[in-house]
Amino acid sequence: MRWPSVFILSIIILVFIAGCTQETADAPVAAGGQEIEEQEAPPELSEEERHWESLFNKTFSDVDCPEAPERNFSDDYYTGPMIDAHIHIMSLPDGAPGQDYEGDNLGIEFSMADWVCMMDYEGTSKALAFFPVWDPIRKESLDVVKMTMEKYPGRFIPFIMPPDDDGSPDGSPTVDAETLREMLEVYPGLFEGYGEIGLYARSGGAPALPPNSARLLEIYPMIREHKLVVYVHLGEGQKAAFEKVLDANPDITFIWHGDQLISCGDCENNLDDVEDILSDHPNVYYGVDELYGDVFLIRPEVKKEEFLAHFEDYEPLLEKDLDTWKRFIERHPDQVLWDTDRGVGAPWSLDPEVAIALNNYSRYFIGHLDPEVQEKYAYRNAEKIFSG
Ligand SMILES: [Zn+2]
Repeated sequence: MRWPSVFILSIIILVFIAGCTQETADAPVAAGGQEIEEQEAPPELSEEERHWESLFNKTFSDVDCPEAPERNFSDDYYTGPMIDAHIHIMSLPDGAPGQDYEGDNLGIEFSMADWVCMMDYEGTSKALAFFPVWDPIRKESLDVVKMTMEKYPGRFIPFIMPPDDDGSPDGSPTVDAETLREMLEVYPGLFEGYGEIGLYARSGGAPALPPNSARLLEIYPMIREHKLVVYVHLGEGQKAAFEKVLDANPDITFIWHGDQLISCGDCENNLDDVEDILSDHPNVYYGVDELYGDVFLIRPEVKKEEFLAHFEDYEPLLEKDLDTWKRFIERHPDQVLWDTDRGVGAPWSLDPEVAIALNNYSRYFIGHLDPEVQEKYAYRNAEKIFSG
């Protein structure tokens, strides 16, 4: 079933635009200045229409965002701008109207303003944002991106993240080229990137998708045509295949992250494979998000209080993180990006208190890197990718 109709979406968009451009005049006035007659009351909305109206109202509602505190950083901290190169946006609920939704969805519990508040509070200027788009809520998901870019210009660098039923063994981490084309043509020029596409196998779901699989080889020409950047999360054993793709597409910029080339059955438990790829391919970047003492904390099973407690003593975390990442980052200063991989999965990661704890520590870590690379890692490399 395809719903809602174009008509419903027009209503939703009109309501949104009206909300953004509300004027103070009491009576409607025509361009010439005379009052025009009151229009008839709109027809009563169906359950489906009310469902979408409510979801979009919530998605673009304001939140009570606390004012960012004054922060007096010592010389040990990086204090410049930051761009987060890895933020996930929740999806709208994709079930039928009338259902009792409990999940962490956009439009139910969360508003785009939650992401903006998180960034404002911690002082992050913008983010590479992965917007999920899938059926049967394809058009609505695309509308969220379009309306977000209109409401919050300059805050999000939008990526399209279109899994193809990846929770099922017959599914795939991405839709095929033809479907992607249809999605991109709805609002031409809306997206700046394609991803994050997790190329690893899902447990109980889609198998791994090698970077040089037929499905992806058909997608790269479209990436070129639409001038997109590709963001992938590599699976185990995909180094050689990835390097072939990087060689074959020197004019496409790729970013990847994930530890599947670092700690796995066949890996040496070091960064050598990651470094090889960076050294041999100038068109690829790596997102470094496994900080905080090498413990990835933004997981659903971790509680917000545990996360905050983890940062009570910076020194043991810093020692570990510098040991793992400092020389790596300094050897590849033009190909590393600061990122956090948050926003979905552990909804408490949107909490301003969590945001600032994570950001303070990130600034402390960056402050201990070579001053020549601090800005590049914190924001300049990300800015450079999207400046063209
Ligand atoms: Zn990932």
